Amino acid sequence: MKYEFKAEVRQVLDIVINSLYTDKEIFVRELVSNASDASGKLRFLKLSGKEIADPDAELKIEVGCDDKEGTVWVEDFGVGMTEKELMENLGTIAHSGSKAFLEALKDSKGELGDRLIGQFGVGFYSVFMVSDKVEVETRSYDLSSKPLKWSCDGSAEFEISEGSRSVRGTKITVHLKKDFLEFADKYRLRSILDKYSVFVEYPLFLNGEKLETMQPVWLKGKSDVKPEEYEAFYKFREHTSEAPLDWVHFSSDAPIALNALVYVPPVNGERLGFGKVKCNVGLYCKKILIDAHPENLLPDWMRFAKGVVDSADLPLNISRESMQDSALVSKIGRIVVKKFVRHISDLSKKDPEKFSKIMKTFGNFFKEGAAMDFEHSPELRKLLRFESSSLEAGKQTSFEDYVSRMKDGQKSIFYAYGPDRRTIESAPYLEAFKARGIEVLFLYEPIDTFVLSNLGDFDGKKFEAIDSADIDLPEAPAAEGESLPKEDMESLCEWIKSKLGADRVAEVCAGTRLTESPAAALNADPINPSMRRIMRLMNPEDDLPQPKVKFEINPRSAVIKNLNEIRSKDEALAVLVLEQLFDDSMLSAGLLENPQSMASRINRILERVKP
Ligand code: ADP
Ligand code: MG
Repeated sequence: MKYEFKAEVRQVLDIVINSLYTDKEIFVRELVSNASDASGKLRFLKLSGKEIADPDAELKIEVGCDDKEGTVWVEDFGVGMTEKELMENLGTIAHSGSKAFLEALKDSKGELGDRLIGQFGVGFYSVFMVSDKVEVETRSYDLSSKPLKWSCDGSAEFEISEGSRSVRGTKITVHLKKDFLEFADKYRLRSILDKYSVFVEYPLFLNGEKLETMQPVWLKGKSDVKPEEYEAFYKFREHTSEAPLDWVHFSSDAPIALNALVYVPPVNGERLGFGKVKCNVGLYCKKILIDAHPENLLPDWMRFAKGVVDSADLPLNISRESMQDSALVSKIGRIVVKKFVRHISDLSKKDPEKFSKIMKTFGNFFKEGAAMDFEHSPELRKLLRFESSSLEAGKQTSFEDYVSRMKDGQKSIFYAYGPDRRTIESAPYLEAFKARGIEVLFLYEPIDTFVLSNLGDFDGKKFEAIDSADIDLPEAPAAEGESLPKEDMESLCEWIKSKLGADRVAEVCAGTRLTESPAAALNADPINPSMRRIMRLMNPEDDLPQPKVKFEINPRSAVIKNLNEIRSKDEALAVLVLEQLFDDSMLSAGLLENPQSMASRINRILERVKP
């Protein structure tokens, strides 16, 4: 018998085929999901004592392909379909037999309801994305049923005729269109099954070979999973032999039903130079993958994490593929981020060693989050750790601990940026802070200064760079050594300013900051040195304006005293020395644009050294 699809079906079919799904390959997932549902229903009926055909037939799912014929098929030994069911379920779009089945049982919230995947009644039609001829051979579990064959060539009609299937269940054969013959390749098909269907509950075969499937550990209770199982699952998923650094597993019922298992991987892929990675926490609904790299689930900074988020509430909303931007997905994401951040924060207290390992590997992502993820920033900034002048090398402090050690009257949190500890400690800026016993955070990564300037403050304490010109420091204990008299100092400053020129130094003064170094260039420019470096990296062609600096000299330094003396005797030499001093300071400040000029000048100075 031939039947017309019900009204508007054609139109809806077009939508399903052309726009609902973005990936053609998901037709495999939909067929396997339906096979799994059919098996689940049968198991349920069997358990409830109903008499069924072929009671001994094993519940398994057989997938097959034939690249010569260009066909793919999926066979199950589940409930099968009667003629009426074929008409309703495959003849009507957006009619879900699964939903009707549950409604009839009034069990949509019960155990079976949790297990059945289908709800929309559109998944089956995804086969028409890749095929223009589909055959369904089916035989219902009902003892009185006859084998039937449903077929459709993609037109507005489908046909139901007598079939030949001898056992209970359904086999769906998809004849691929010319452009999609790739799906009849065994390896291609296998990778699709690995991707979407490894967690189905029934044994899964491909061309007779049993595929490795995995228990969906994230759906189990936390107390039922051993650490080895968590690790094994991670390794299976990531195809790796390396264990993860850590994981957090949780579930919730209200307001959204959710099971999540989020891992911290052992290595930072971006550090290895693989470029920016995509979100790797897959979105699942009842064990079936919806999206391996969902874009709107988690904030960008969490892209290093891997794992699974599974919500049974997802399909109730709208179709699977087009729901990525739905509010529900971001709501789910927010719950996951909160739990994850809380877990890491607990770790900082309970297992500081593991915590610091995670921070060593992924600290930059947390920094990025603190700076960019407005919603979670208050929690994330508490997780940041830096070395400091008060701690030995390798030890790190949180902002909270820094604040608890602040001096009476100290209003800001001070920081220094440099590629490493030695460089920061040998620059002149630290002296003033050392002399006053004020702690300074050491920042080693270019992103650090960006993060702190973005945060602005912690707990009301402003972040300030120690090379900034407008830092207000309390009076230092009187520095040792005799100082150059005040008048000499003033005229020396005038002279320096006239020699260097106003475009290079905004101000020259005798400072109170320095105790050992002869001079320091303080940043008086709104663009701080590390921003300047970043701008240079991004646009090497751009001409940046000369940085504004305040040149501070140390009136107790022998170099400065000598400079003051030679400038009246041999001004040419004095200028050479001054230029050198200035370049040295600019170098320490990270502001020297072309250090090459220093080398030839040093030679000229050395030439003047005569026995
Ligand atoms: P959904 O799975 O969301 O209900 P589908 O379009 O995937 O929607 O399938 C429509 C209906 O067809 C299913 O609800 C089910 O009743 C029926 N069906 C599909 N495949 C099978 C199968 N292999 N065995 C039994 N019934 C099936
Ligand atoms: Mg389905």
